[in-house]
Amino acid sequence: MPTVTLIPGDGIGPEVAAATRRVVDALDCGIEWEVHAAGLPAIETHGSPLPEHVIASIVRNKVALKGPVTTPVGTGFRSINVVLRKDLDLFASVRPCHLYPGVDSRFESIDIVVIRENTEDLYEGIEFEQNSREQKKLRGYLKYMHGYALAPDAGVSIKPISVTASRAIVQFAFDFAKRQKRRKVTLGHKANIMKFSDGLWLETGERLAVDYRDVGFEAIHVDELAMGLAWIPNDFDVIVLPNLYGDIISDLCAGLIGGLGLAPGMNIGLDYAVFEPTHGSAPDIAGRGLANPVAMILSAVHMLRHIRMTSAAASLERAVEKVLADGHHRTADMRPTREPATTDEVANAIIEAL
Ligand code: ATP
Repeated sequence: MPTVTLIPGDGIGPEVAAATRRVVDALDCGIEWEVHAAGLPAIETHGSPLPEHVIASIVRNKVALKGPVTTPVGTGFRSINVVLRKDLDLFASVRPCHLYPGVDSRFESIDIVVIRENTEDLYEGIEFEQNSREQKKLRGYLKYMHGYALAPDAGVSIKPISVTASRAIVQFAFDFAKRQKRRKVTLGHKANIMKFSDGLWLETGERLAVDYRDVGFEAIHVDELAMGLAWIPNDFDVIVLPNLYGDIISDLCAGLIGGLGLAPGMNIGLDYAVFEPTHGSAPDIAGRGLANPVAMILSAVHMLRHIRMTSAAASLERAVEKVLADGHHRTADMRPTREPATTDEVANAIIEAL
């Protein structure tokens, strides 16, 4: 029996995780759950938002299903999501954006996959606070090396992009496109402004593209990509991006397919995989049964595929499709025409459609 680490998270996490667990259990495919707290509940019980045993559980089981986790601001803890991705080397974030029939959207069909580099870029947390001792040292260095006068009241965040990480993720994107018989990989960048970070990212991508002549390739500025996605999204297929652009563009793509409540995601490494919705912990609606569980349920569909339970995955996706298409059970974020459904009512409808 496959054992999966289940991290409910915080905010709306526990609600959507409980709904997802019920739905997956209803498939009766023999999944055993190892449940571990992370985020705010873990700080209360273990003094850390990501206790060692949580990582150990994922290492043991190789696969996890995770709800959103808030990083409390000003507590000195680094983002749990970032630490998890780095510790387990989950270098690829894959966010499929598929528009299901019946869902309210400005477009008739959308089928885009955003692949985001997960380990470096501005997410490294290398920062210099305004007026700090460290910032003063940096100021001296920049003056000496570049003749640049950094203002004492400027905060600085560093953006490292390496050939190694760029190559790994672009290669992953091409292999993914090939395996899934996708027509094109689009690489987004801003190499005209950041020559040594985005420039290197672009150059690495262009070099690799030569080895994948059977997959189409284009490189475009990320601002142009944003415009294109809002205007003619079906021009795009697989999009590969560095960490920060990937975060922003995947939310944009979620907006094309009915919103964050419907956008699944996964973090993939060579040894481990963590499946989680694109959305955050949405504290504004937490604890009220209003959250849409579909993003996390679709993340579970991808998890089932990953562990080769393909027929269970297909049954679950079909049931989600049915519920979305008939439109009777929709949470408030989906702008239903009737009384909004609760998280549990959507899960019940999906279970009934199995
Ligand atoms: P993070 O920085 O952690 O990604 P965020 O600030 O981008 O989080 P989210 O928590 O992802 O914000 O969500 C933004 C808003 O979208 C929420 O405040 C909530 O109103 C809505 N939202 C997100 N997820 C859901 C969901 N599953 N169901 C309903 N509404 C949602």
